[in-house]
Amino acid sequence: MSDPLQMVSTAFELLRTLSFEERAAGLRRAADLLEERKDEFARLMAEEMGKPVAQGRAEVEKCAKVCRYYAEHGEAMLAPREVEGGVIRHEPLGTVLAIMPWNFPFWQMFRFAAPGLMAGNTILLKHASNVSGCAKAIVAVMAGAFEREDFVQAVFISGKEVEPLIADPRVRAVTFTGSTEAGRQVAAAAGKHLKKSVLELGGSDPYLVLEDADLKAAAKTCAAARMVNGGQSCIAAKRFLVTEPVHDEFVALLREELARHVAGDPMDEATLLGPMARADLRDEIHGQVVDSIAAGAELLLGGELPEAEELRGKPYYPATLLAKVKPGMRVFEEETFGPVAPVVRVKNMQEAIELANRTPFGLGAAVFSGSEARARSVAQALETGTVAINAQVVSDPRFPFGGVKDSGWGRELGEHGIREFVNVKTVR
Ligand code: NDP
Repeated sequence: MSDPLQMVSTAFELLRTLSFEERAAGLRRAADLLEERKDEFARLMAEEMGKPVAQGRAEVEKCAKVCRYYAEHGEAMLAPREVEGGVIRHEPLGTVLAIMPWNFPFWQMFRFAAPGLMAGNTILLKHASNVSGCAKAIVAVMAGAFEREDFVQAVFISGKEVEPLIADPRVRAVTFTGSTEAGRQVAAAAGKHLKKSVLELGGSDPYLVLEDADLKAAAKTCAAARMVNGGQSCIAAKRFLVTEPVHDEFVALLREELARHVAGDPMDEATLLGPMARADLRDEIHGQVVDSIAAGAELLLGGELPEAEELRGKPYYPATLLAKVKPGMRVFEEETFGPVAPVVRVKNMQEAIELANRTPFGLGAAVFSGSEARARSVAQALETGTVAINAQVVSDPRFPFGGVKDSGWGRELGEHGIREFVNVKTVR
């Protein structure tokens, strides 16, 4: 049998009958295999999409962690709940189609796959076209872990060819991570064919720096949050809203931190900033920078395409800092998926909150303040799925992850994530 969808669809009849302990054993073996092969997988990511190897290794380790997390806690999260007069059960749905992006080629898949398999669903992976090697490696890890190759299979088709799969009755649900534009198309197809969907789309995460913040620590965290994966992350810091009294000092500190991110060979252990994943993505971010400067933003670092000989055939883009950014400029209005930090000067906390929410996106946000109470009141006012206080927004197996507004719907991770793709069944 070589039709991947038929394979995973048939295998569901077996996976659904396995005990939680059997499923957990498979996930623990997956974690071991990931750890054993993390150097190889980090090199594969560096080759396919330019992630520096040190970051790739950390990504694979995080995948092992999410496998162990659900192996340990999945059963309790899905345990039947007795209520007076009956019982509520959490049963698997069937085969879930996972459409995944290239930016965290292993993590994006494992954070869905670990809870998905623990819940008893089989998976058909449609990975981004530029990370086919990663897709094959993930399928191989799962085949080794479960000692059979039909719980997770991959198809190698373009995004445009996905709709017939969503329509196929053997696919019971779809999870998508990627751009808002493609997410709308997936949502439309899922709606047309009445398939449950989870959408994890883009973000324009605001980082609010208030006048009572520890500026040095804030600048360090903000730079790291902007530069994660070369800025190509849905939860990278995308807009810095800094109150008047500390604006100039913060900008100077941020510039210092960003300047340390010199672009280099992703195979080099010391590299913090690799090339971007594709030339079209580099051209897009450069266009956003150029247009924003033309509209009045001030360039304080980077912002120029490297000379041809510096490129070594790869789409590098330098760490870039823009000040005097205002609503209406492209770097404010659009998602910036690259190493570009736009800073907006705001009068006070109220204006920071107002501009933070003035975006179609609602994925993550961070607030920096010396007062916990003040930070918590800001957190309450922000329209996002996550708010970090004096810290960077990260995904963590223990907490639900996802967005509101154009950042999508549904949640991954935590106990909410594992319950997205189950049949909540009443038996009485
Ligand atoms: P896409 O959203 O186009 O790609 C993500 C995944 O969706 C890939 O597997 C892609 O396949 C697939 N896809 C594309 N079009 C469709 C469709 N109509 N139906 C079903 N699946 C589809 O992102 P890009 O790679 O083009 O990146 C563009 C921008 O998207 C980035 O600059 C960034 O703003 C955002 N993005 C956000 C991510 C996030 O983590 N939230 C991740 C990646 C991108 P294929 O590769 O074959 O086209």
